[in-house]
Amino acid sequence: MDPTTREAIAERLRFYREMGIYDLYRRPVDEIAVETAPSEPELPMPKKLTVIQDRPAALKGIREDIGDCTRCKLHAQGRKQIVFGVGNPDAELMFVGEGPGADEDEQGEPFVGRAGQLLNNMITAMGLKREQVYIANVVKCRPPGNRTPERDECDTCGPFLMRQIAVVKPKVVVALGAVAAKTLLSVNDSMANLRGRFYEFSPMLPKNAPERDPSWESTKLAVTYHPAYLLRDPRQKKETWKDLQMVMAELGLRAPAKADPANG
Ligand code: URA
Repeated sequence: MDPTTREAIAERLRFYREMGIYDLYRRPVDEIAVETAPSEPELPMPKKLTVIQDRPAALKGIREDIGDCTRCKLHAQGRKQIVFGVGNPDAELMFVGEGPGADEDEQGEPFVGRAGQLLNNMITAMGLKREQVYIANVVKCRPPGNRTPERDECDTCGPFLMRQIAVVKPKVVVALGAVAAKTLLSVNDSMANLRGRFYEFSPMLPKNAPERDPSWESTKLAVTYHPAYLLRDPRQKKETWKDLQMVMAELGLRAPAKADPANG
């Protein structure tokens, strides 16, 4: 088949996939020729394709791709289960943490321990409910003794996070702490330097990732302190609240009357 025809067919198949049509079958060539007789008018193609994506199904697909993962050494270092992510697949706001701790490993859900309680308070202070946002981590398996995930572990697991972001397409991603910030932004800088402003962020997707969407390229990303760090140094809650207010302004959110930044 010549390359032009091949590309035209690939383009048409992409279009069908985006319309949610996956099952196609082949018919003999002459049958097709009869159906596409010259008298039949060409259907107008939309100029810009609207990508209709079933986000829960797409997230499920990513979870299935992760499988019972053995890609990095964390799988053999005492993890009980993979902690994929939780929340609203259509969320406008997504939080990204570092990796599961003991509680998350036990329950299979990110941010359910003490740091999670503080994150919940932060979400409430923003005038949102936990179910309205999406929450994930850079690494999906608990590092032993809650150590910081290592570079190779972040590099191995990171593409799955990028795919989650590309499915949810949040308006704002908040990177919680240095591991999330450095993994997402591919920079090595201090938290003090990284926080306090927005970055334009395009998830680096693996080649041929099905989440690639030509109509959506980037989102805003803000960096703030990790809730576990705030538990150790509550003085930084004030700075964190400034970061969250910046995010709220971007999302058009108003704090509930009694929002207390020093909550928790
Ligand atoms: N810390 C994280 O970074 N993620 C969690 O899920 C819990 C604690």
